[in-house]
Amino acid sequence: MTDCIFCKIVAGQIPANKIYEDDDVLAFHDIRPIAPVHFMLIPKQHVDSLAHCGPEHEAVLGKMLTLAPKLAREQGLEAGFKTGINTGRGGGQEVFHLHVHVFGHKN
Ligand code: 5GP
Ligand code: ZN
Repeated sequence: MTDCIFCKIVAGQIPANKIYEDDDVLAFHDIRPIAPVHFMLIPKQHVDSLAHCGPEHEAVLGKMLTLAPKLAREQGLEAGFKTGINTGRGGGQEVFHLHVHVFGHKN
């Protein structure tokens, strides 16, 4: 997706404050945080939203969700955190590349 901002971050074409990367998943801080700690996990392969996921996305969805508490702890959210997946215009989604928000306050 040439016009997708998160694909451009995956490709290194625009900068991001990355906190985790493997073959399938990238995590980076949100540019407009709504909490003292606010990062996002995204699949490296473009998919518009949760509503566009199928069985072929089960592995990467599971990977993102199991990484979330590990990365949250590393970012200082030992006491807990919130997650969010905005889906579609009605769900407040602004960037149409699937992402899981993780945010909270350090202890
Ligand atoms: P959505 O409403 O789609 O769930 O959230 C999209 C999020 O992406 C917003 O919280 C917004 O601040 C963040 N965002 C948009 N553009 C960029 C960007 O270029 N870099 C980073 N790091 N975050 C972005
Ligand atoms: Zn994309």
